[in-house]
Amino acid sequence: MKKIKMTTPLVEMDGDEMTRVLWQMIKDELLLPFVDLKTEYYDLGLPEREKTKDKVTFDSAYATQKYGVAVKCATITPNKQRVEEYNLSEMWKSPNGTIRAILDGTVFRAPILIDSIRPAVRNWQKPITIARHAYGDIYKATEYRVPAEGKAELVFTDKNGTETFRQTVYDFECAGVLQGSYNKDSSIRSFAHSCFQYALDTKQDLWFSTKDTISKQYDQTFKLTFQEIYDNDYKAKFEEAGITYFYTLIDDAVARVIRSEGGFIWACKNYDGDVMSDMVSTAFGSLAMMTSVLVSPDGKYEYEAAHGTVTRHYYRYLKGEETSTNPIATIYAWSGALRKRGELDGLAELVGFADALEGACIDTLNDGIMTKDLIGLVVEGTKVTSATSREFILAIKERLAKRLG
Ligand code: NAP
Ligand code: MG
Repeated sequence: MKKIKMTTPLVEMDGDEMTRVLWQMIKDELLLPFVDLKTEYYDLGLPEREKTKDKVTFDSAYATQKYGVAVKCATITPNKQRVEEYNLSEMWKSPNGTIRAILDGTVFRAPILIDSIRPAVRNWQKPITIARHAYGDIYKATEYRVPAEGKAELVFTDKNGTETFRQTVYDFECAGVLQGSYNKDSSIRSFAHSCFQYALDTKQDLWFSTKDTISKQYDQTFKLTFQEIYDNDYKAKFEEAGITYFYTLIDDAVARVIRSEGGFIWACKNYDGDVMSDMVSTAFGSLAMMTSVLVSPDGKYEYEAAHGTVTRHYYRYLKGEETSTNPIATIYAWSGALRKRGELDGLAELVGFADALEGACIDTLNDGIMTKDLIGLVVEGTKVTSATSREFILAIKERLAKRLG
């Protein structure tokens, strides 16, 4: 069989532990036999990050800015225990955080659905994609445990040193808690652009929700920024694509989401997105079936699985045991990146390959061949065969070859 050609390289970011093992299997069995794979390889595995003093992470993000499309394996975010385990000279920051900061992007998470796993919400038929603004708010807040009676004020001093705002937050008559959080117009604008761009890209409606009735400056700014950018830059394009932008209060959004049949993007502020993405992924099934893509406001894409490096399985793998780790979200990271590369470079065959690869995954699952994490989730009466990661990937390969003729 003639291999499918690529023109521009993908930025390939390798990772850690069990997902690193799956990464190699996916390349060997599902990609290299079919595609003349062109990648610019960055090893974001922890040993290499240590060796390069984390320069490799920065370089991979700059390469993504240059080429426009990246695919990333899950990576360890070091904590104290990892510093000892890997004998690190520093507690390197989360690679995802570093890449996100450089690309100034928004993270979109969407579940992969199959017929035999019914979402906990009966009427959900299509995926719900959560777009989380991953900057500021309580994640960058300053907090204070108020010890006793006293006054808390909000003060703003401009760059000339003039105090231009002072207001009492609360006159504490007893101990309590206090929090100061912020966001930036530039970040909110980037968030909005990424969301509108991604909605156009995937031809899905975009919903956005905040609590602007209560938060008359803070959340209101988010609402007005989205509306202004929509009116100026996207309204005509949305109408042409036959999709809509819809703003509603977060409480109303929650009620509508539950009653909906899915099939839209729900943009959320940082905290809402954190909470709602966990709720949505659990309700749809499993974290191993959640895809994730970082989209920058100027249209750069980094595809990955939503889950981590599956450490517990890796320790079993190191003892020589076969594991039944689910590679689906990682395979979809590859298919997403290859499809985007194909679209940008006008390579219909590459786009076709991405579709066939995803189709082969669904065929395999529909044939009842599954990793262990899914077996407990299928509807009663489904005939299932439990597979190890390798057996599962080989079953996908068989169906992929068939689809590709
Ligand atoms: P995790 O790797 O997502 O795994 C948590 C548990 O979820 C696993 O132990 C497993 O449950 C189940 N699971 C997740 N993915 C699965 C898959 N593909 N197939 C089957 N089961 C799966 O999260 P974690 O254990 O909290 O974190 C491990 C490491 O990953 C940490 O070092 C963390 O820093 C890193 N991490 C990286 C990213 C990223 O790069 N984007 C994201 C999150 C975490 P059972 O053990 O019960 O089977
Ligand atoms: Mg969360």
